[in-house]
Amino acid sequence: MSSHILNQFLSENLEDLKNKGLYNVIDPLESPNGPIIKIKGQELINLSSNNYLGLATDDRLKNAAKESVDKYGVGAGAVRTINGTLELHTRLEEKLAEFKHTEAAIAYQSGFNCNMAAISAVMDKNDAILSDELNHASIIDGCRLSRAKIIRVNHSDMDDLRAKAKEAKESGLYNKIMVITDGVFSMDGDIAKLPEIVEIAEEFDLITYVDDAHGSGVLGKGAGTVKHFGLSDKIDFQIGTLSKAIGVVGGYVAGKKDLIDWLKVRSRPFLFSTSLTPADVAASIRSIEILMESTELNERLWENGDYLKKGLKSLGFNIGDSETPITPCIIGDEVKTQQFSKRLYEEGVYAKSIVFPTVAKGTGRVRNMPSAAHTKEMLDQAISVYEKVGKELEII
Ligand code: PMP
Repeated sequence: MSSHILNQFLSENLEDLKNKGLYNVIDPLESPNGPIIKIKGQELINLSSNNYLGLATDDRLKNAAKESVDKYGVGAGAVRTINGTLELHTRLEEKLAEFKHTEAAIAYQSGFNCNMAAISAVMDKNDAILSDELNHASIIDGCRLSRAKIIRVNHSDMDDLRAKAKEAKESGLYNKIMVITDGVFSMDGDIAKLPEIVEIAEEFDLITYVDDAHGSGVLGKGAGTVKHFGLSDKIDFQIGTLSKAIGVVGGYVAGKKDLIDWLKVRSRPFLFSTSLTPADVAASIRSIEILMESTELNERLWENGDYLKKGLKSLGFNIGDSETPITPCIIGDEVKTQQFSKRLYEEGVYAKSIVFPTVAKGTGRVRNMPSAAHTKEMLDQAISVYEKVGKELEII
C-alpha cells in the first residue's frame, strides 16, 4: 500500500501544475534528433535541439560508437576509481585538454553532474560564490551543495559584480571566493563578459568558473567562449558538456593539472557513479577530433543562425539581442507564447515555448536553435510558417 500523505501531495501538486498550464507533456520522437524530427507520425522542422553541429546523427560518430561497443561492450562496469577507467576515458580526457588548451581535463557522466561535482569539491561553508542570476540550474544546485554563501549578481552587470566582490573580500568572512557564470546564456543567446570578469577576479583574487555548455562548438571557431576571448590561461574551471555541440552525452572540467588531480580524488560523481559508456566516450572523442580538424560545421551553424535571424527580424519579430545562433522570438504574454508554439507545431515547425518561471514574467518566447544540419530550404519553410502564424495571432 502506498503512503496516503504522498498520494495527496502528488495529486494536489500535479493538479495545481496542470491548472496553471505548467505541466510539461513529453512527446517522444519517432526519429533521430536531427533537423527534421517525427512525432506521432508528423514530420516537423526541428528548431529545439542542442545538437548545434548536427553531430548527434553523424555517421563518423556512429561508427566510432559501434566499434567501441564491439571492442569494450556496452558498460564501463564500475566507477572510474575502481576499475571503470578504460583507456578510452583517458584518451577522451587528453583530447578535451587539447581542445580546451589546458593542462588536463576530467570527464563526468553529464554536464549537470559535472557542476554538482566540481563546485562542491573545491568550495565549502567557509567560502562564497558570486553567481550570475541567470546561471543554469545545475550551477545553482552545485553552489547549494557546496554550502558556500551564494551571492547573486545581477545578470552580466559588472558594476554589481565588482561591488559584491569588493564587499565579500573586505568582509574577511570567507576563505575562498569564486565567480561563476555561464559562457553563453541559453535563453537569450548573450555571451558572458569574460574579459571584465577576469579583470575583477584578478583584482579580488577570485576563482573563475565558466560553464560553456552552449559556447563550446559554437564560439571561438568551436573551441568555446574562453578561447573566443583569448583567456584560456585565465580561467580556473572550464566546464563543458558533451551533449550539445559535441552531440553525445557527458560533461567535463578542463583546467590545471593540480585542479584535475584534486577532482579525481574528491569529486563525488567521479568516485561514486559508474563512468561513461564506451560508446559515449568513443563517439565524443571522434566528435572533438572533427571539431579540431575543421571549422566547416561551425561556419555552417553561424550562417544558418544569421539566416534565420535575418528572416524573422525582417518579418517584424522581436528576436532580442542574441550574440550567438540561438534565436529567441520574444512574444511576451505567456498564454500567447504557448498558443504560438502550438500553432507552429500544427504547421510543421517544432519550436518550444519558454515561459515564466524559466524566464522572467512577460518575456515568454519561442526559442529557436538552428543547427549546421539545417538546409536553407528548411529554414525558408520555417520562416514562412512563422509569417503565417505570426500574422494569424497578430504578433506581426
Ligand atoms: N550547464 C548549462 C549551462 C546547460 O545549459 C546545461 C544543459 N541544459 C547543462 C549544464 C547540463 O548539461 P547536460 O545536459 O550535459 O547535463
